[in-house]
Amino acid sequence: MTGSGDAVGNRAVSALFRVFGGPGRRWVADGFERTTFRAMHAGERLLLGWLVSLTVFAAVSEWLVRWTGPWIGWLLVLPVGLVALNLLAFFVPGKKVAVQWWSWLLLLTAWAWWRKDAGNHTAWFAWLWLGIFALNAVAHLILLLGMTLRISGWPGMVWRLSLFFGLHVIAFVDHWFWGWTWALLGGMSISVIYCLAVLRPRCQWLGPVTDFREGRPPLITIDDGPCPDETPVLLDLLDRHGRRAVFFLIGDKVRAHPELAREIVRRGHEVGNHTMTHPQATFWCAGPWRTRREILECQKVIAETTGVTPRLFRAPVGHRNLFTHPVTAELGMEVMAWSRRGFDAVDKDVSKVLEKILPVGRGDIVLMHEGTGIAAEVLGGVVE
Ligand SMILES: [Zn+2]
Repeated sequence: MTGSGDAVGNRAVSALFRVFGGPGRRWVADGFERTTFRAMHAGERLLLGWLVSLTVFAAVSEWLVRWTGPWIGWLLVLPVGLVALNLLAFFVPGKKVAVQWWSWLLLLTAWAWWRKDAGNHTAWFAWLWLGIFALNAVAHLILLLGMTLRISGWPGMVWRLSLFFGLHVIAFVDHWFWGWTWALLGGMSISVIYCLAVLRPRCQWLGPVTDFREGRPPLITIDDGPCPDETPVLLDLLDRHGRRAVFFLIGDKVRAHPELAREIVRRGHEVGNHTMTHPQATFWCAGPWRTRREILECQKVIAETTGVTPRLFRAPVGHRNLFTHPVTAELGMEVMAWSRRGFDAVDKDVSKVLEKILPVGRGDIVLMHEGTGIAAEVLGGVVE
């Protein structure tokens, strides 16, 4: 996500849909909401518009059938339900949609707690609302955790480390209550979640990652340079097509070929930070000191060599670790992944690589590498 959103500033009203409602760029408000409310998620409209009504009808039908018998009871459900719904809508407070959401959620959760053992169709609705309430609570916890994950610099790294060890301690302590099986399962789940967060380059669990730029022209990003064999060829090719790219440079290689790094900047391209030594096998599990050193040293070398301080960071093979984001936040950098790639660092068949990258559309961020021997052909295919 770019974090820019669209002009309306859409954001789900509830934590529930902010967390579980899918990526922000798919949220669209219609004209009614634009003029009346801040914005509303489609799922929230569905819940407040339909599920609330259905629940009220279910509650009314239970009551009517009990007092008037099944026949008359079911006949009266529609008119009485409509009256009840209108009365409730009149009395439930909140002109703002956020207050409305909370009012209905609390009202229906209280009702659900009361009716959950009803033993008929009302209980079914009651459990549904209890589930919605529980999920909403979980979503609030996730948002709270997300807030704490935005702490930058050393305080952020210490906090993340404490959280990581704290969770393991909790899993370990589990064995006194539920035995070793659950303790082990808890510990393993933490590892699996961590691996998923780190090893999937576009995953945002550890902090914001730009992998798509809504509405912007496609962006070509070239990793692992500068490279004496290929950088000059790529620069000429980009010039010929009037294209600008982002070169994610490795600090050590900038030190070895400073004139190439300067040439990239001179020709109007952006340079990004791709760590000092590109530890592709171990960056995912690097500790706080090493992570910081890799990013800071590369930043320093690029700034000293080219006079430009990078504002973009890309982790080696896209594997960020627990401490990457506090460092990049401290330096005011954006972590960038990609939306299209052709695995050009492993596959030497240009047509296969291009087949995976293309088609490239608006918003796409294309990842390619130099030093592969096929970089010029790949770039040629992409710019055309
Ligand atoms: Zn790389």
